[in-house]
Amino acid sequence: MMRIWNHNTRSSANTDDAAGAAPTGGAITTAGAAAAAGVTAEGASQPEETQRVPLRSEIAAEYKWRLEDIFTDDESWARERAELAAEFPKLAAFHGAPAKSAAALLACLKAQDAFFSRCETLYAYAKMRRDEDNANDKYQAFTDIAMSLITEALAAASYIVPEILAAGRARIDAYLAESAKSADTAELVTYAHYFDDLFRQQEHILPEREEAILALAGDPLGAADDIYTMFTNADLKFPDVKDERGNLAELSEGRYVRFLESGDRGVRERAFHTLYDTYSTYRNTLAASLSASVKKERFLSNVRKYGSAIEMNLDADRVPVALYDRLIEAVDGHLGLLHRYLRLRKRALGLSELRMYDLYTPIVPAADRRIAYEDAVSLVKEGLLALGPRYSADLARALSSGWIDVFENVNKTRGAYSWGTYRSHPYILLNYQSRIDDVLTLAHEIGHSMHSYYTNRTQPYIYSEYKIFVAEVASTVNESLMLNYLIGAAKDETEKAYLLNRQLETIRGTLFRQTMFAEFERTVHKKAQEGEALTPDTLSEVYKALNDKYFAKEVAVDGRIALEWARIPHFYRPFYVYQYATGISAAIFLTERIRAEGREAVDRYMEFLSSGGGDYPLLLLSRAGVDLTSPAPVEGAMRAFEAALAELEKLV
Ligand SMILES: [Zn+2]
Repeated sequence: MMRIWNHNTRSSANTDDAAGAAPTGGAITTAGAAAAAGVTAEGASQPEETQRVPLRSEIAAEYKWRLEDIFTDDESWARERAELAAEFPKLAAFHGAPAKSAAALLACLKAQDAFFSRCETLYAYAKMRRDEDNANDKYQAFTDIAMSLITEALAAASYIVPEILAAGRARIDAYLAESAKSADTAELVTYAHYFDDLFRQQEHILPEREEAILALAGDPLGAADDIYTMFTNADLKFPDVKDERGNLAELSEGRYVRFLESGDRGVRERAFHTLYDTYSTYRNTLAASLSASVKKERFLSNVRKYGSAIEMNLDADRVPVALYDRLIEAVDGHLGLLHRYLRLRKRALGLSELRMYDLYTPIVPAADRRIAYEDAVSLVKEGLLALGPRYSADLARALSSGWIDVFENVNKTRGAYSWGTYRSHPYILLNYQSRIDDVLTLAHEIGHSMHSYYTNRTQPYIYSEYKIFVAEVASTVNESLMLNYLIGAAKDETEKAYLLNRQLETIRGTLFRQTMFAEFERTVHKKAQEGEALTPDTLSEVYKALNDKYFAKEVAVDGRIALEWARIPHFYRPFYVYQYATGISAAIFLTERIRAEGREAVDRYMEFLSSGGGDYPLLLLSRAGVDLTSPAPVEGAMRAFEAALAELEKLV
């Protein structure tokens, strides 16, 4: 309910996505996922070699975000913190409220919202100040203080949900009916979806003592994930690899993609062999770890009385398992397009045989146009005109009202994200480097920000956080409109080819690849459910078969790739990555509708942007005009893929 973690970070299309495609939201993903993906943040913010990175004090105010719009200064932050801390006992005063009356329950929920919103505001200010200059200890301390306030608030309010559930659905429904007719508690009606979401999951909540035991087991149940993270981030080391000049260079997960992007095939091959041969040394440990994580899901879904792990995980967003199955089916039906793209790649690289390590090296040179930030702003305004006059007007204001921290400075957090609080306008952190990719990043992040802006203005606090399932839709619609615009306005064929290839790589990495991951998860969790042991051989056989299905028609699939499962951290976040695939499909589908229908599609889309978490994700999207239970969105994305492919085939 508190969106303390909900940074919307930039997805990375042209990178090897060992950490998945788009590290959006989720626990502390800005640092975590950027570190895991390495390239995502780093690639986005390499300073010009000849330029010195400026100090923050050297950057003009117009290029800095205005955090003063949240707290005028640090003193007012400290005052608010002291006041809030003093008010904590008030939260405990609502014990028994849910069973008492509609008025008592409303007062309780409003108090909870106010507390959470105030904590979140303190935290966001502290964290964003820290992101300006990570060497500043003061804001590290502020961040820690705000975080402990949040922990306290969550603990102090933890009785509220169990008491609502204990009051029972019949009683809450009676409150709602009564409130619909009473001015005094009319506001309670806005909580109807919140109650519905609680009660629909009630049958999976255990008696108090059992819930307490499960809570105590949380730490040991998370051990597989902890051990995997520790092993891969701290202990796992790779031998050096010879680079283009024959010098020994350090290999790591973070640097791996740079080797795979090399124009020197020998470098690519050596990096690929070295990386997987190293993983192979630890295959038993890594299989035991993934197996333990899968068993944890099986255990939890059993005790919570779900039919399966996949059912439990998808139910959090009320997504039916059939949707997941149909996504896999729909992508399967279009693998011919992936093969066609791979043929183009083979031809462009001039190879007689494509290998797994030939999939990331660019087939089109990077566009070299330098775009000043002011020009990027104009391009984004132009590129997003299709979203209508209201969006355009608000966008123009957003781009000139202290929302955005534009340039890199010494010790600033790398990469890009959109964030903010319910009480303030949204904020965007960029590390703008004047490349065409940076323009797309701006369009992407402003998509998140506008989603938050409209949502915060329309929804009560309780629905101000949107789910991951819908989050990337708003940003990807913008990115997709922007790409279309830039392709149309490309200054020459090289730039056009670069942009087309970028679009293809985005869809390949987000739709094809994440769906392949999703199928791997479905298969191994099913095997575990049926009592089959997840040995290294079992996991590798499943993974190799998937790679054969996706690639063997055009690529000589090296057996080493069978171990890739060992390096995908997202498999420890079960049944999560499929949302990247549904998200990009929904976004491309909506972009098509907006371009084809204009006004009507725009109106529906604007309503979606204003709806936040006010209903279940699938319902919100269907009101926007995209039905994810049908194959139409995936088919739409595939049409876009095919169109870009056909154009690129002409150019390469
Ligand atoms: Zn994003």
